[in-house]
Amino acid sequence: MANILVFALHYEGAINKNSLGAVSEGARLAAELGGEAHAILVGENVPDELAGSLGAYGASKALVANGPEGLAQPVVDAMAHAIEQGDYSYALFGGGLLGFEIGAGLAARLTAGVVMEVTGVRVADGKLIAERPILGDSAISEIEYRSDLGIIISRLNAFEAKQTGAGAAAVEHIDVTLSPQATQATMITRGEQRGADVDIEGAQILVAGGRGLGKPEGFELCEELAHAFGDTAAVAATRAVVDAGWYPYAAQIGQTGKTVAPKLYLAAGISGAIQHKVGMQSSENIVAINKDANAPIFEFSDLGIVGDLNKILPKLTEAIKAKRSA
Ligand SMILES: Cc1cc2nc3c(=O)[nH]c(=O)nc-3n(C[C@H](O)[C@H](O)[C@H](O)COP(=O)(O)OP(=O)(O)OC[C@H]3O[C@@H](n4cnc5c(N)ncnc54)[C@H](O)[C@@H]3O)c2cc1C
Repeated sequence: MANILVFALHYEGAINKNSLGAVSEGARLAAELGGEAHAILVGENVPDELAGSLGAYGASKALVANGPEGLAQPVVDAMAHAIEQGDYSYALFGGGLLGFEIGAGLAARLTAGVVMEVTGVRVADGKLIAERPILGDSAISEIEYRSDLGIIISRLNAFEAKQTGAGAAAVEHIDVTLSPQATQATMITRGEQRGADVDIEGAQILVAGGRGLGKPEGFELCEELAHAFGDTAAVAATRAVVDAGWYPYAAQIGQTGKTVAPKLYLAAGISGAIQHKVGMQSSENIVAINKDANAPIFEFSDLGIVGDLNKILPKLTEAIKAKRSA
């Protein structure tokens, strides 16, 4: 039997969206393997109700360990303990920096194979094959595990959270003795990045920025324009820039980000890769600013402006402000 243990990150009483996706994917894969997906949560006073709610995403059991929330080492201890005591063939993470850190620590602790940045997983001959983009995302490599435990760390938003309609998961509290290194760090503060609370999917106007913005501060041009448009506008981003840490993941549009259909999608410094296009092509009006007249985004734009966004965006902002105050 090949059971899968899925890490469920939680914050302020809610399970992280990527963890919900990982639980759903874990449940799908475990069913194909003839096993079960179990979730594991670490924290101080994790409510049983929160842990049990993962049943709706396909976890048959939710393990709860007491320990500091949001730090990697205590989770490595808890997951290593659960895996040693249980019957798990795979550990699954829904992406994010914490998942990378925990997965790497777990791999070292248990001498397990680990694949990061996974965008798909499939079952072949009763085993999991992890699919990972390589060579600047131009090809996909397929990896199978030789170790007893295989660790899968997905890209952010690689797995969709799906409610199965099943009831609550059985909650089991586990006693874990934290290793000395797990008690060395203390969480001082925890919060979301700038812009993470913006409702991208609900915005009527999106000013989206890509690598053409040149640097993280380039997003200020997009923010100023969105601000000029008013409350119904928000700033979005391509994967290239969120991966580079220029803007929060919550703003990513595309295949592994969000799908939007605003009244106006203004793309600044975005090439128009197919993975970005699938997330915004249903927008009512697409306006693109790109200095390269041959950029693919012009092929599906209603209006294309060939030029330097550093000159065009501030002028547009001024024009919108003037129009709105007239
Ligand atoms: C499995 C997989 C999933 C993916 N998922 C997503 C996803 O969800 N979302 C996503 O966006 N991408 C995704 N990607 C990545 C995607 O393939 C592209 O790499 C990415 O969209 C490119 O981002 P970009 O347009 O910001 O950067 P680039 O492709 O580098 O384009 C930058 C553009 O800016 C223009 N430019 C430069 N300077 C200026 C200037 N001063 N003024 C005007 N224009 C300028 C350039 O001409 C260029 O066209 C995925 C890839 C893979 C393999």
